[in-house]
Amino acid sequence: MAAPVSVLQEVDSLRAQLNRHNTLYHTLDAPAIPDADYDALLARLVALETQYALDTNGSPSQRVGAKALAGFAQVVHELPMLSLDKVFDREDLLAFEARLKKRLESDVTIGFSCEPKVDGVAVSLLYEAGLLVRAATRGDGVMGEDITHNVKTIRCIPLRLMGDNVPATLEVRGEIYLGKRGFAELNEQARRSQSKVFVNPRNTAAGTLRQLDPQRAASVPLQMFCYSVGLHTEGTLPETLGEVFESLANWGLPTNPQRETVIGIEACVAYCQRLLAKRDALEYEIDGAVIKVDSLPLQEKLGTNARTPRWAMAYKFPPEERSTRLLGVEFQVGRTGTITPVARLEPVFVGGVTVSNTTLHNMDEVARLGVRIGDQVVVRRAGDVIPKIVSVVSEAENSAPQEIVAPRKCPVCGSAVEKDGEVLLRCSGVLVCAAQRKESIKHFASRNALDIEGLGERLVDQLVEAKLINDVSELFSLEASQLLSLERMGVKSAENLIAAIDRARETTLPKFLFALGIREVGEATAQGLASHFGTLDLLQSATVDELVLVPDVGPIVAEHIASFMGNAANIALMDRLVAHGVRWPTIETGGAVNKPLAGQSVVLTGTLESLGRNEAKARLIALGAKVAGSVSKNTSLVYAGANAGSKLAKAEELGIDVADEAALIALLEELEAAR
Ligand SMILES: [Zn+2]
Repeated sequence: MAAPVSVLQEVDSLRAQLNRHNTLYHTLDAPAIPDADYDALLARLVALETQYALDTNGSPSQRVGAKALAGFAQVVHELPMLSLDKVFDREDLLAFEARLKKRLESDVTIGFSCEPKVDGVAVSLLYEAGLLVRAATRGDGVMGEDITHNVKTIRCIPLRLMGDNVPATLEVRGEIYLGKRGFAELNEQARRSQSKVFVNPRNTAAGTLRQLDPQRAASVPLQMFCYSVGLHTEGTLPETLGEVFESLANWGLPTNPQRETVIGIEACVAYCQRLLAKRDALEYEIDGAVIKVDSLPLQEKLGTNARTPRWAMAYKFPPEERSTRLLGVEFQVGRTGTITPVARLEPVFVGGVTVSNTTLHNMDEVARLGVRIGDQVVVRRAGDVIPKIVSVVSEAENSAPQEIVAPRKCPVCGSAVEKDGEVLLRCSGVLVCAAQRKESIKHFASRNALDIEGLGERLVDQLVEAKLINDVSELFSLEASQLLSLERMGVKSAENLIAAIDRARETTLPKFLFALGIREVGEATAQGLASHFGTLDLLQSATVDELVLVPDVGPIVAEHIASFMGNAANIALMDRLVAHGVRWPTIETGGAVNKPLAGQSVVLTGTLESLGRNEAKARLIALGAKVAGSVSKNTSLVYAGANAGSKLAKAEELGIDVADEAALIALLEELEAAR
């Protein structure tokens, strides 16, 4: 049955829409329509093409739908797919340019095309008369595998080229990759369905392209950047790579927006530095930059070596993932007694630094990784973050790997180890634990705490080991003569340290509270506590109920504070510090004049719909009122919200004034405005 004109028009429109969305999906990295809408357009197109038996060559309907293959056909690359020479630093790049000039027997300034070296799978796409007829892996460079069925499922790769002057034969080469977001989503799905998670984007992309079933390939959001032209009809390409890239883009092929044409090798060095700086922000993984001579006639003149072109160079970034051996695990004790497993590694150069140890966080992480001492592990370091063991490569050879066992006793003081919550281990020694003493003194002296200049980690370790101090208060009774017994301590530095300790006596209440090292009390919380309570005395006598009224203090932190302040040893320590002259200016929290409700006892009952019970309580207390939990003859006033029950009845029985929420809000606003 011949298709009516209206159907042909609709088919054209559907194909154009689908092609446009495929392009948008790739170049803008944000699809213009939801996947379900895209699927509906595609389903309509397939239905029409089938019903009227239309020619589907190059139609977007041909992306998925081929049957699974029995095996891969071999493809011979008419022009071999060469690999690239690699360099690792600026000097090597300068040497590259010098070699080019020597071979060209000219000192002319060379233009270069620079682009990111995307960490993916190299492929070749063959277009005949503008139609994608074959896609192949690089293989060994001479022979690869036919992966046309899978490549057709990649939405950014045009099945039919558009625009003018498309060569009759055009082989385009590039890198197929899986973006970081696509990889994360895929692993999220895998975790939800409890199937195996993927190791990295590149392996996932490679595995996807080697699927026999294109339906499975279609479920992975692969993408591509084209980077060169192989076989092509003679006389159809412009003279420079920069222009070739423009042509590729005009024909609808995906090219990397980070590509630039620059003049001279120093500009290439600068390009590489800029690219390295934005490496982590890119949506795909790169492992360097590719630098190519921009002029095609010059490329021709330079020619190729046995396996690599003379006109191109890969500039490799320091690797972000490397494998190394786990030599051992040490358990380190922190300031609050937390015991953390720390991996000792065979030193490995990764992400620009040599890593020889890194934290394993907790025993749950050890179990999750399934790592044992002696295992070969993959270490990752991206940007400036702490290096991380991400996986175990293989089991230890020869020697039997050794399980990592959580200690039952503190490795420093021998006290029993307690479990803190689900995964944390904690030394119960506290004051007897030298590790905790050292860490708490280091914290006390640190810049944002009492800021004792010159009292660094090494010196604290020495002071504790020489038993010159046992806790922070003893810092203030140190004498210069005692310090002289320490290694590498001269008279001058001893006097300087004593002077710095003396200066540290003058502090502020927030810094003092932070310096105490109460669990979960950071600088912001210390500041909040100081401005709320104003004095150490008031804070020491505060109950958990009163503590939670401080901004950012939840019930757990309040418990930590109350238990610290209630502990006899801590009270004695704070007293000793004050006796040693540690002092701070008084904090103005508002005296009696600013406490208009001082002396009043207020009870809240029922549901306070717009204020909420906690807010109402906090604001009343700030104005000086005492907020009581039950009604008695001492109650000044009861504020009753919706559904008030027995307390309201009790107030009426005792003849105590009762007001509603609106009256409470009006009172608060009036008094707060007057402050
Ligand atoms: Zn200990």
